[in-house]
Amino acid sequence: MHVSPTVAAITEPATLLMARRSRELRAQGRDIIDLSLGEPDHDPPAFALEAAHEALRGPWHKYPPVNGYPDVRQAIANKFKRDNGLDFTAEQIVVSTGAKQALINVVMSLIGPGDEVVIPAPFWVSYTEQVRLAGGTSVLVHSTLEEDWKTPIERIAAAITPRTRLIMFSSPCNPSGSVLTRTELEALAEVVREHPNVYVVADEIYEHIVFDGEHVSFASLPGMAERTITVNGLSKAFALTGWRLGYMGAPLWIAQAATKVQGQFTSGTNTIAQRVAKACMEADPNLLAPMRADLLRRRDLVLREVKKIPGWRCNVPQGAFYLLPDVRSCIDGKVIKGSVDLSLYLLDTVGVSLVEGRSFGAEGTLRISYATSDDKLSEAMVRVAKGVAQLQHG
Ligand code: PMP
Repeated sequence: MHVSPTVAAITEPATLLMARRSRELRAQGRDIIDLSLGEPDHDPPAFALEAAHEALRGPWHKYPPVNGYPDVRQAIANKFKRDNGLDFTAEQIVVSTGAKQALINVVMSLIGPGDEVVIPAPFWVSYTEQVRLAGGTSVLVHSTLEEDWKTPIERIAAAITPRTRLIMFSSPCNPSGSVLTRTELEALAEVVREHPNVYVVADEIYEHIVFDGEHVSFASLPGMAERTITVNGLSKAFALTGWRLGYMGAPLWIAQAATKVQGQFTSGTNTIAQRVAKACMEADPNLLAPMRADLLRRRDLVLREVKKIPGWRCNVPQGAFYLLPDVRSCIDGKVIKGSVDLSLYLLDTVGVSLVEGRSFGAEGTLRISYATSDDKLSEAMVRVAKGVAQLQHG
């Protein structure tokens, strides 16, 4: 039994690992509250499901074009214009099996051995592993809770070397919920302008989940359209995680390279999901306001409880549906050696599944996904507080 060195070097995403463990414990009859997955508990909008029913009548049953149906790509280009102020032709859009595939397409297209990718931390777990799959090196640039989990621009600039090919970030951020302001993005654009060989992946999958302030697309800043790959998808905004549909808008040569990569992995994306994507792109984004209001209420609910836990500290994130409290007070170096141990302890003793922060480049934290019902969240936080109290009082 011998897997390739490439596969031996990558890890299972911490998020999926915790979800898998929760499922296993549940199968053994344990009562587990799972706050580990980045998955909205809302139902998908009715119009999306109707679009799927309609598509089943055909004629959408055969292989689609690798980069997506032309009218779907045009609908995505129109959405980019309407919501983000971006000008793409349909040729610059690639439809993929989830934003995850859009990201790996880009990484495979641009990164090879010796290339460096600058990743502000905390970051979404798959960025580093995708870079590793492509043979590149991730250069992590850390930030702290006091910095609102936003890496200061000087630190990002200092991490760029002649080998840097890409900078990857999500805003709103998974796992911190931080939202980069226009001023912060402008500062990044200024750095990018100084490095003509550096490109930027702006992962905007949480764009509609911003509570305060605006979502700004990095590619909309002067000169950045030629330098940016904007990634998005249906999973979060439309609660369609299982339909696996993501997309990107990019300079034409990168879209063409990504299509080439995808042509060897999956070919075109599931046709029914593509027809649903068209309906989602054409829908009024104001339809998402109730979901945003629910998530804001839940953020405040969990934040209140997190702040009551002795020693835990948390900032007030402005977007996505995650909190990333600093839980170092629970890490004693003996029984609980790190955030991995703490997440396993909480799962075992009180049946709450949270993701350890190490995989996100933020050791000493736990990620709480609050995209679930208020009742479950309240119960989960009572349990977590109990688990922590047991730990602290032996
Ligand atoms: N980027 C970020 C920041 C995410 O949080 C996720 C999902 N957890 C993805 C990409 C992947 O989304 P998809 O379901 O479209 O593959």
